[in-house]
Amino acid sequence: MMEASTDITTQQAVSPQTENTSRTDFEFSREIPENMAALDEISRNFYWSWQPEGHALFRDLDPDLWDRCEQNPRVLLKKISGLRLSQRSVDAAYVERLQRFNEKCEQYLSVERRASTIAYFCAEYGVHNSLPNYSGGLGILAGDHLKSASDLDLPLTAVGLLYRYGYFRQKIRHDGWQEETYNDVFDSELAVVPAVDENGERITVSVHIRGREVVAQAWLARIGRISLFLLDTNVPENSPVDRLITGHLYGGDVETRIVQEKVLGMGGVRLLAKLGVEPAVFHLNEGHSAFLTLELVREHLRQNPEKNFADAAAVIREKCVFTTHTPVAAGNDVFPPQILRECFSAEYFESLKLTVDEFLALGRVDLTDQTEFFGMTPLAIRMCRSANGVSEKHGEVSRGLWLRMFPDLDDSGAVPITSVTNGVHAPTWVAPAFQSIYEREIGQNWHEIVRDEGSWAAAVGRLSDAGIWNTHRQLKNLLIAFIRERTRAKNTGTRDTINEHEDTRRLFSPGVLTIGFARRVAAYKRWDLLFSDLERLLKMVDDVECPVQFVFAGKAHPQDRTAKSILQALMSINHESTWQQRAVFVEDYDQEVARYLVQGVDVWMNVPRRPMEASGTSGMKAAMNGALNFSILDGWWIEGYNGQNGFAISDLADEESDAETDAADAKSLYSKLEDEIIPMFYDVNDVGLPTEWIGRMRNSIATLTPQFSSDRMVTEYLWSIYEGA
Ligand SMILES: *Cc1c(COP(=O)(O)O)cnc(C)c1O
Repeated sequence: MMEASTDITTQQAVSPQTENTSRTDFEFSREIPENMAALDEISRNFYWSWQPEGHALFRDLDPDLWDRCEQNPRVLLKKISGLRLSQRSVDAAYVERLQRFNEKCEQYLSVERRASTIAYFCAEYGVHNSLPNYSGGLGILAGDHLKSASDLDLPLTAVGLLYRYGYFRQKIRHDGWQEETYNDVFDSELAVVPAVDENGERITVSVHIRGREVVAQAWLARIGRISLFLLDTNVPENSPVDRLITGHLYGGDVETRIVQEKVLGMGGVRLLAKLGVEPAVFHLNEGHSAFLTLELVREHLRQNPEKNFADAAAVIREKCVFTTHTPVAAGNDVFPPQILRECFSAEYFESLKLTVDEFLALGRVDLTDQTEFFGMTPLAIRMCRSANGVSEKHGEVSRGLWLRMFPDLDDSGAVPITSVTNGVHAPTWVAPAFQSIYEREIGQNWHEIVRDEGSWAAAVGRLSDAGIWNTHRQLKNLLIAFIRERTRAKNTGTRDTINEHEDTRRLFSPGVLTIGFARRVAAYKRWDLLFSDLERLLKMVDDVECPVQFVFAGKAHPQDRTAKSILQALMSINHESTWQQRAVFVEDYDQEVARYLVQGVDVWMNVPRRPMEASGTSGMKAAMNGALNFSILDGWWIEGYNGQNGFAISDLADEESDAETDAADAKSLYSKLEDEIIPMFYDVNDVGLPTEWIGRMRNSIATLTPQFSSDRMVTEYLWSIYEGA
């Protein structure tokens, strides 16, 4: 049914009709010189964001402004001065680059699109920072999934929500405490357009919530060849409260959460119907969208009134597949039965041919336990023909976690949950400096060669030691410049937190072994493990011959005071030591910060308490850039580590208690650093190259890039989960 959606995607943006939506001023009056008109079109499809030339074209218009606009080309084109634009329009080299890139985009997008047969649902998408629609790993993974689906030309349509305030921005106060702020995303230009029908009318859907019809408008973001539709309840038809349903990502109370998930699941299915998209497969990426399965059942019953719920559910199950992302029970959404009763109407239960109790049982692990909360994961597992975890280990853990849902089975091995290990999108995460080496030495189509492990390994084997090392050194210098720039803004001289220095030029040195640690601040990620023996750590940091330096980043959930205390403790380490110059916390961890970090550090560290890390993806990004992973054997690293492409902390043996595990892991962490990592890094040959280290970098790039690319992941979904849809 792509004809219908093609119409929609090629329609001109309609002018927003109401006061509130007019904040999104998509038509700007700025005159772009004729020979640069393509910039406008390029900025409206996120394809540019995974092309180094695309970035460079916008950046080179006005590099300072580009950073001030936080790499948002729509804002850049709105704010840039007429003088800068005119200067570039008479710069023949620039205009020629623009034309070449425009041709590349047109060619990429000209591929004839097939009817969409896969619908992909997720509550967040991390495509690019200029679409602030993600909080962390899940969103970045979904963004990478869409980019690979585009590159591989899969017939996939994605559905999500457009959060008016996105996720919070992080600031650290002088006393080390995290503060949050929210920006109104509509105050900036978003590269989205209202989805409109053939008459140019905006497309809306409505969802019944607590006796009201809540309206949601659909926006379209173009991710290469993929259409991503985002539902937004901030429309004049709704009451002020309902306008805020899609206000904050993971910011609301339980009821807001349910209502958001109704808009996503039920509204999303209705939207696809309006668009004329008839998917053969619905992919529920995490349980947030699981209500979609019930909406499909309801529609099926409407068309087949003779059937009962079980018959209809059996049909719908064959179309739905589910991916679970967390190995901790607490990480799964659960709702109190009473609130669900209030959020759904009696007519709704009737339309499903279910009693309220039968409905509530769909979300329970134990069908007979009336007090159990309603879980989106049990609902999804029941209503989908397949369920999978995101690494082999996570598949195994999930089978154990959900065994109780299958009272007939006595062995978790038989629980029908498989795994597809996560991956990341190489063109998005591999530094442009490495990409240009690959283009030169391996071929323009290097990212396609990545899809073949053998050819890729052979090609990487031919790169020179000096080439790898010098490129890495440049990226490390870039990271250090970025850190100093970010820290300069904070320089107050009060020195309460590690970020406050008298002289940022003394902060970090390019020659020093640099370890990156950036992730959400959550207990199981064990931020404090590194500090469990502070004296031993500072001895390494202070070493005159072979020191180490650390860069940290990560957000704590706004309501999680324990996590904020962990951050505060880290920020307040203040010592008669070089620590203040060799440790830095970069605020507001996001995709842009992540890119600098994974591309510039020597070592990427991860110390989760096993087996809580479902997969982890930041280490994959680091690996592709030659940063050596130094991690607990959990999640993806169990599959990735081969003894020569990074370092492992501890082994796979289990300790008795958490305290014993922590102690053993800390011991392993320190001794690996002291005995292996630091000596290897500083062991250079007579021309200054650490050859053994570079060997590991090469091994990391060669083995881990193909294994953990999202092209591999999406192909695996296609063949083993979507079944060739
Ligand atoms: C990749 C990424 C993540 C996920 O990384 P983990 O290894 O799962 O912690 C989170 N946030 C950002 C900004 C990322 O780029």
